[in-house]
Amino acid sequence: MAEELTPDICVIGGGPGGIALAAGAARLGVPVVLVEKGRMGGANLSRGSVPARALAAAAGIGETLRRGSAMGVAAGPPAVDLAGVRTHIAEAVEAVAANVSAERLAAFGAQVIAGTAAFADPRTVMVGDQSIRARRFVIAAGALPKPPALPGLGEVDCLSLDAALGLAEKPSHLVVYGADARGLELAQAWRRLGIETTVIDEGLILGDEDPELAAIVLDRLRADGLVVHAGLKVGAIARRPGGIRIAGTGPGGEVVVDGSHLVFATGRAVDIDGLGLHAGKVDHEHGFILVDRAMRTSNRRVYAIGDAVTGPASANRAEYEAMEVLRSILYRWPRRVDPLAVPVVVFTDPALARVGMSEVEAARRYNDVRVLRWPFVENDLAQAEGTTAGVVKVLARSGGEILGAAIVGRDAGEMIGLWALAIARRLSVPDLATMVPPYPSRMDVSRRVAETFAGPGQAPRGQRRLIEWLRKLG
Ligand SMILES: Cc1cc2nc3c(=O)[nH]c(=O)nc-3n(C[C@H](O)[C@H](O)[C@H](O)COP(=O)(O)OP(=O)(O)OC[C@H]3O[C@@H](n4cnc5c(N)ncnc54)[C@H](O)[C@@H]3O)c2cc1C
Repeated sequence: MAEELTPDICVIGGGPGGIALAAGAARLGVPVVLVEKGRMGGANLSRGSVPARALAAAAGIGETLRRGSAMGVAAGPPAVDLAGVRTHIAEAVEAVAANVSAERLAAFGAQVIAGTAAFADPRTVMVGDQSIRARRFVIAAGALPKPPALPGLGEVDCLSLDAALGLAEKPSHLVVYGADARGLELAQAWRRLGIETTVIDEGLILGDEDPELAAIVLDRLRADGLVVHAGLKVGAIARRPGGIRIAGTGPGGEVVVDGSHLVFATGRAVDIDGLGLHAGKVDHEHGFILVDRAMRTSNRRVYAIGDAVTGPASANRAEYEAMEVLRSILYRWPRRVDPLAVPVVVFTDPALARVGMSEVEAARRYNDVRVLRWPFVENDLAQAEGTTAGVVKVLARSGGEILGAAIVGRDAGEMIGLWALAIARRLSVPDLATMVPPYPSRMDVSRRVAETFAGPGQAPRGQRRLIEWLRKLG
């Protein structure tokens, strides 16, 4: 048995959450051990954002070629070589792997152990015969894809999104179950790479998003040739020669979809037994670790962050929670994590991004909410590039406090960062109206929407009176 390790912090999982926490602790000189059972970088690197964005980038090139003739540059229909796309994805993953390697983390001063960590008791984690008795533990172990409970699903082969990313042969018709961010992003990319793709969902398309903005995304997905069935109650899934058949009832009646592969885009669950959660006295429910608002589990020495906890699956959420938990541990003061501080992005084209409160939530909490909008169609760069589908929508109180922002359009994922910072730093809408953006830029849409706050007749009365009075001075 190796000598027991006694770091201040032991992190289980080397995905974005675990790496952010371990790197942050190590930079401050705090003894930290990170245990990773697979490849550093987590789901994010090997089967999440990085491969998904690389696939979408390849699909985007195809789309640019297809639309080029509208700008006088005709290239003909793109010839897609899926093996080449896979090579591009693999190269992107390898390039990013260097940024999240064990060596890099070790260079900051963290100790990285390869192996599977499991609680042996509430104060000890074992990795093989190595015991770790840390002052605090952070479970950043992510979650595994979990197929939805659908009638007949057990009778057919179904793929998780990440497994579908690695398909060796070009599928003839993918049927994606789940119309949330991840499902739609990949479905659009596959469609643009020439694969027939159908998305089905029991609920609404992008049901968590602002319906006004989601409708703009949906229009584009349909224009791309994606078939989308919302509100479809699946009655049966069965094998058929060459693939699968899904039968269900939608708002318009019976629907039958024949596809070659079924891909599920929803559902995930923590590996409860693998982590020894019972031995660690860490409570869980419905496949997720239970935490309080400071991400503490039922075992006060143990925190959990990222995909292991219920909430949107995103690398930026995992990293944000990591930094808040690190502060709680270091300063011994539980910091409340604010889910509204984390931008949520749907990386379709156009993309949809939001931060802060939704319109419904803002109206529920306050009675002086103003909704400000500025369309991309009034942006010079959008016109020059032919990317005019989009709008910035801001929710503010009458005094200028920003409650939330949502953007649909090209680069919405980049643009939302400004609004996230504004909300976090309590900047007001008039503050943002003073921004001097580059010209032409999409950033200008954010300035223009902020300017509408003081539109005709909206400038504060005191300001108007002062100007009136100064005018009289001649
Ligand atoms: C197709 C797809 C596309 C996505 N696109 C985006 C996107 O564009 N933007 C975005 O923000 N997010 C995206 N995500 C989600 C994102 O990948 C996850 O939310 C993120 O990786 C979660 O980070 P994490 O640190 O919580 O866990 P993970 O990244 O899952 O890392 C957990 C790590 O813990 C390790 N581990 C588990 N159990 C143990 C154990 N017992 N001992 C030791 N190690 C263990 C695992 O091997 C893994 O490496 C996407 C996901 C998918 C599937």
